[in-house]
Amino acid sequence: MRKVAIIGSGPSGCFTAQGILKARPDWTVDVYDTLPVPYGLVRYGVAADHQGTKAITRQFERVFERQGARFFGNVTLGRDVTLEALRAAYDAVVLATGLSGDRDHGLGRAEGVIGAGELTRALYDHPDSGRLPDVRGDVIVLGNGNVAVDVLRLLAKTEAELQDSDLGAEASAWLAAQPIDSLTILGRSPATAARFDPVMIRELGKLRGVRIRVADLPEADGDRLIEALAGLDGLATGSRPVTFRFGCRPAEIETDAAGRIRALRVEGPQGSEVLACDTLITAIGFCCDGSLGRDHLMATAEDPESGRIAAGLYAVGWFRRGPRGTIPENRAESLAIAQRIVEDVEAAAPRARAGAGILPAGHQIVDWTGWKRLDAHELAAAIAGRCRTKITTRAEMLTLCREKEDAR
Ligand SMILES: Cc1cc2nc3c(=O)[nH]c(=O)nc-3n(C[C@H](O)[C@H](O)[C@H](O)COP(=O)(O)OP(=O)(O)OC[C@H]3O[C@@H](n4cnc5c(N)ncnc54)[C@H](O)[C@@H]3O)c2cc1C
Repeated sequence: MRKVAIIGSGPSGCFTAQGILKARPDWTVDVYDTLPVPYGLVRYGVAADHQGTKAITRQFERVFERQGARFFGNVTLGRDVTLEALRAAYDAVVLATGLSGDRDHGLGRAEGVIGAGELTRALYDHPDSGRLPDVRGDVIVLGNGNVAVDVLRLLAKTEAELQDSDLGAEASAWLAAQPIDSLTILGRSPATAARFDPVMIRELGKLRGVRIRVADLPEADGDRLIEALAGLDGLATGSRPVTFRFGCRPAEIETDAAGRIRALRVEGPQGSEVLACDTLITAIGFCCDGSLGRDHLMATAEDPESGRIAAGLYAVGWFRRGPRGTIPENRAESLAIAQRIVEDVEAAAPRARAGAGILPAGHQIVDWTGWKRLDAHELAAAIAGRCRTKITTRAEMLTLCREKEDAR
């Protein structure tokens, strides 16, 4: 029987498993993740108030529950198992580990300058995240993509608007307590080149406590995004000012004596401008955190377009193509790579493979049943107005699985 290991249980890993098992239901497909829980950015990136988007996990559940993929949580490639060992143990290995580093903004470090990835991981209770940062005063969100809009929307929402999200109690209290005077979303490019999804912009029109102004807008001329942005301009449902600025290149951070940001100098349509800024959140993309030698692997890949790095080694999703693209885009790519893997593996002579037998003895692996216990616990523990309360530390996650197992 042929064996495939997929490293990373985010959307691209799950869709790849789905594609392989659809074509070859009798193959062994093992999905590994460094976390005890599956789904990658669907759990720790997609906004807490976008539960509709997170419903994709029901499709992923079927990959494990009906199609026979196996989940190996709490296994880190590069620490618990090496790539070489995995390649020897499987007919094919797929790297689907995403990109978790915030792209450098090149403006230098200062207190109050926060990466969107760092912030969203802390907000969504990622077990390896730091504490929730201090967000206050005049807040600038740098970036012209949907992640920037997510951050803006969450910071602008009232407690009532977060009903039915999976935001935890601590993050909810944190959001309510941050003394935010104003929010500005600022992009380098002109509005016509912004990468916001018009649907995301229109959604901001439902916010209940804001006064929105959109500056630097050209005529719409049938452009759906410009129309959506123009539709927001002048919206006044409350007191918190929200401003969109375009064509502003951040040039320099000004700090106070304590080293905290107090202003951002930008080169904008009106020349050089100094904008008051107590918190700068950069949402300008993601990069490799330096692990797994991703940049070298992709630079030397045999056929990066098809996802083939070398014989028996493949890359998919954000790991392959960089931090661009939505969940549906990962689906199309993953299904194509799955097809390629099936063809390549079948063309190679069969060999006996150890598969998951190479994992270190005594290492605590969270299997699918373990995750479902945790899932049930989190759903049952949801506080009023929330659909889930996430367990926030690895130790607690693992203990909970073990305790429930012992109790059986
Ligand atoms: C803040 C944010 C919000 C987003 N919102 C949306 C949205 O609303 N709608 C939408 O369509 N798209 C959204 N996206 C984009 C979407 O999340 C990505 O397209 C998608 O998650 C990429 O999938 P992936 O599987 O390549 O990577 P990921 O989702 O990052 O999954 C990678 C997985 O690999 C695991 N991993 C990492 N390193 C290792 C290792 N060494 N060993 C084992 N496992 C490892 C991780 O734990 C993770 O589970 C958002 C992205 C971000 C950052």
